[in-house]
Amino acid sequence: MALRVSNLRLSVDVGENALPDLISRTLGIPPGDLHDWRILRKSLDVRDKRDLRFVYNAEVRLPEDAQSRVLKRAAYAAAKIEAFDEPPFEMPTPGSVALTHRPVVIGSGPAGLVAGYFLAEMGYQPLVLERGSPVHERIRDVKTFDDGGAFHPESNYLFGEGGAGTFSDGKLTCRNTGPDVMRVLKLFADCKGQQPGKPSIMYFHRPHLGSNRLPAVVKAIRQRIESLGGEVRFKTRVEDLVFQEGRLKAVVTSGGEIPAELAVIATGHSARDMYEMLLRRGVPVVQKPFQIGVRVEHPQELVNRVQYGFRPYEETLGNADYSLVAHGGSADVFTFCMCAGGYVIPSVSQEGYFATNGMSLSKRDSPYANSGLVVTLPLSEFGSNDPLAGMRIQEQYERKAFELGRGSYACPVQRATDFMNWTASPSVPASSYPREKMAIDLAEVLPPYIWKALQSGLPRMDGMWRGKFMRDAVLVGPESRGSSPVRIPRDDETRETPGLTGIYPAGEGAGYAGGIVSAAVDGLRTAKAIVARYASLRK
Ligand SMILES: Cc1cc2nc3c(=O)[nH]c(=O)nc-3n(C[C@H](O)[C@H](O)[C@H](O)COP(=O)(O)OP(=O)(O)OC[C@H]3O[C@@H](n4cnc5c(N)ncnc54)[C@H](O)[C@@H]3O)c2cc1C
Repeated sequence: MALRVSNLRLSVDVGENALPDLISRTLGIPPGDLHDWRILRKSLDVRDKRDLRFVYNAEVRLPEDAQSRVLKRAAYAAAKIEAFDEPPFEMPTPGSVALTHRPVVIGSGPAGLVAGYFLAEMGYQPLVLERGSPVHERIRDVKTFDDGGAFHPESNYLFGEGGAGTFSDGKLTCRNTGPDVMRVLKLFADCKGQQPGKPSIMYFHRPHLGSNRLPAVVKAIRQRIESLGGEVRFKTRVEDLVFQEGRLKAVVTSGGEIPAELAVIATGHSARDMYEMLLRRGVPVVQKPFQIGVRVEHPQELVNRVQYGFRPYEETLGNADYSLVAHGGSADVFTFCMCAGGYVIPSVSQEGYFATNGMSLSKRDSPYANSGLVVTLPLSEFGSNDPLAGMRIQEQYERKAFELGRGSYACPVQRATDFMNWTASPSVPASSYPREKMAIDLAEVLPPYIWKALQSGLPRMDGMWRGKFMRDAVLVGPESRGSSPVRIPRDDETRETPGLTGIYPAGEGAGYAGGIVSAAVDGLRTAKAIVARYASLRK
């Protein structure tokens, strides 16, 4: 048993090395008695602009008698002190069902890569199939597209090694905590994810890697899978599944048929052809509410002043981020995937469709700040019982955005103030979007339910920033790939799709995750379920 000490507050001008003293004082023990402790979480409190503070939670281990003395006095302490007993991370003992073939993992995004890694570590020699290219080729294809060149349908911001996570902003935030989350963060940290001199990704509340560092991380995980006996096969698109009496028999790929008895389906929510194929093959797919809206861009300097006040904290803390929710109106509007010092990007995985998203480099040093500004589209707005109705809505508006952009992936842009007045901006506002931009009324590329909610939420957010949110804001969009429009049902415990043997839906595309870490944790838990049932292939 240990102690958790929460709400330890230190001025941002004071380094982490002042923390042991603060912990000892809070616990009422001599500093020399504090040997065994670690930071669980570190966050930034910007509410008092004259005195920004880091807030820490720490785990402390003391001899039992000292610990009970501390707990007795806990009610009088300046911070919250409580008993804390987090179970250690464990993989299950391998099961007994014999495997004839190695497990197949479809997709090398965070869910697939991490499932592949833990299966490999436990001796299951997984075969990871990825439709896109290895990351070094993918970087070149994405740059060509950003520079105005051709779109590559299999190697782009969404498809290729590392999945949508590779060119993401690289924020490793996750709402959940616990041993599985910590194990995933440790894997990322061990695989080139921890930068010397930066806050630890294991406990900083907003850990951030940036698109320039993510490629090295995904490559390092792939190399570990290979060194542990697994295989990662690129440019291999899964096109079909073969079942016999409800049991998986093979996966059909662009490179031929592969016998398989179990497959982790971790293909993300942009693989629309996969959803169509799964439905054709009788794999259940059900509707799920999803987020859609725009991306809002501000000058980063404005965000710094709103968050940090007039002291130039950005020099030590880096460019500021924010997170807002406007409750009320027709539906809640919220910001998500905020990219401080970032860039708006063409989040495109299909020729003829257009959607935006955001990313940043590890330095977060562009003069722009962008963030998703989205609303959840409820099932009542889908207008059909088709399991893929939500996907069709995404397609409808992404198609329209592409056509309005003259088929050249020009990005629709509009000043927020013009959006409120229903007028396309008179000139094309400045934006970090790399290709051509064009001024249109963004309501044209959004479902009415969404633009109405945005129009009622924007003034509320403006109120939260004392009139500074809308004035200089530029909207780009549509932002339609924030979450999955479907869920692939699975059993809570076995993680297998009911009624079929060998299908393990995982990650964001299956509707069980909404970010890099949550997708990775879902991959880890899927690997655990497979390990618990099947015997390892290790000799
Ligand atoms: C631009 C952008 C920025 C983002 N920023 C952040 C962020 O800062 N923080 C955060 O937590 N999240 C962020 N996200 C979301 C995050 O990237 C996703 O939640 C996460 O990548 C989902 O992981 P996944 O493994 O489930 O799916 P994906 O990452 O989508 O991976 C799916 C993989 O499957 C492959 N695939 C698809 N179909 C097939 C097929 N038929 N055969 C073989 N392979 C196939 C794809 O090529 C892809 O590699 C961002 C997303 C985008 C697009």
